Amino acid sequence: FMWGRVKNVCKQNGLLILSVLAVVIGCLLGFFLRGKQLSEQVKYFQFPGELLMRMLKMLILPLVVSSLMSGLAALDAKCSSRLGIMTISYYLWTTFVAVVVGIVMVYIIHPGGAAQKEDSEDSKKPMTSSADALLDLIRNMFPANLVQATFQQVTELIPKPTVAQLLDETTTRRVYIYGIQDDNGTDVQNFSLDLTPPPDVIMKTSPGTSEGMNVLGIVIFSATMGECFGPTTEECTHMNGIIAELYFPFGIVFLVAGKILEMDDPSAMGKKLGFYAITVVMGLVLHGLFILPAMYFFITKKSPIVYIRGILQALLISLATSSSSATLPITFKCLLENNHIDRRIIRFVLPVGATINMDGTALYEAVAAIFIAQVNNYELDFGQIITISITATAASIGAAGIPQAGLVTMVIVLTSVGLPTDDITLIIAVDWALDRFRTMVNVMGDALATGIMAHICRKDFVKEGEQVRAFKTNQ
Ligand code: ASP
Repeated sequence: FMWGRVKNVCKQNGLLILSVLAVVIGCLLGFFLRGKQLSEQVKYFQFPGELLMRMLKMLILPLVVSSLMSGLAALDAKCSSRLGIMTISYYLWTTFVAVVVGIVMVYIIHPGGAAQKEDSEDSKKPMTSSADALLDLIRNMFPANLVQATFQQVTELIPKPTVAQLLDETTTRRVYIYGIQDDNGTDVQNFSLDLTPPPDVIMKTSPGTSEGMNVLGIVIFSATMGECFGPTTEECTHMNGIIAELYFPFGIVFLVAGKILEMDDPSAMGKKLGFYAITVVMGLVLHGLFILPAMYFFITKKSPIVYIRGILQALLISLATSSSSATLPITFKCLLENNHIDRRIIRFVLPVGATINMDGTALYEAVAAIFIAQVNNYELDFGQIITISITATAASIGAAGIPQAGLVTMVIVLTSVGLPTDDITLIIAVDWALDRFRTMVNVMGDALATGIMAHICRKDFVKEGEQVRAFKTNQ
């Protein structure tokens, strides 16, 4: 009897079990091979993982465009504006809560050492580039040219090795890194993230430009188009499941092992950095495993555990890929097939969430900024803490759902309170790991929000007489 049950569970959760095994095998393999000095071969070893990332990324654009267009087109105008307002308010609210959790945790744990009041001249830097970056963030929401939004160029000005490298894979907006040089042509310490470089900046466009995708702009475009199409449009969302799914566990093994092979020696990590990482992780656990599920429970009166069990596969993929956009197709599938959420709700709430709702990122941005202040012995006043909470929210909205995007938008938070942007390099060593956990919380936030919105809007849908069954089966 027992054996029969085990067989049944394995049959139902085959892919999930294989994915868990893949993460474990990937970790073991990575640590085993680390001792073997394989620096030359690492790139071949990482290749299968890279292919998995590419497969997932390939789906992002068609999925976001088709799902938002057909999703909004399927709802009538009254219904979609109600859903839109509620979704966005809920997203902002949970992001704000995440930031508060982060701020409380970083003040309790104090990872950056004891703060002393000290008026250091250099840490007070002008706030201009932060405002410009925020304007650009909004500007990018309305791409003048859709094709350009899909292939945006990254131009590096006076590249700094670590950050320049980082931008290659993370930027989805047009971003310049600039340094200011003095009269002798020596690079002055700071760099910044900005879209409109000031006149005294020396531009050096590096040959290694890369392309990204302005997902936020594409989301807004698709939502507007969907509204225009009206309720008659046929659905055009199609998931190319089987091949990608079969490849998943295999790809995950190499994705995880490849990263472990590449990472810095953890014993070299300083004590403060260790405490910083613990602070972020504890904040994420508190928000992702307690606060968000509690909100789900209070609003829907349904079990968050049952709901989270349905999205485990998506959470694992987010852990393996550090990208909420790349996880999007899987989250979609989990919500539809395991949690039986109405397709029309998923199509709207999920892609919007994957783009603008990043609770984990917001929490991390706030913790990191205050950690950097603590390390610099820079005491933040109340106004500055409010500024951090607002800019951390904005920076999380502006961050794309791709690996380490949050590290790039951190510059907005740091410059807003005059903290040295160079100090981002302090946290780079642990960022790849924290990125995985914050991405999981980002995905969890979007998925729970979809369940909440489906619950709140259930009456609107029942009235239309469609998909009633979908709500009944989701206990
Ligand atoms: N990697 C995160 C995501 O995809 C974004 C970030 O915080 O860097 O959701």
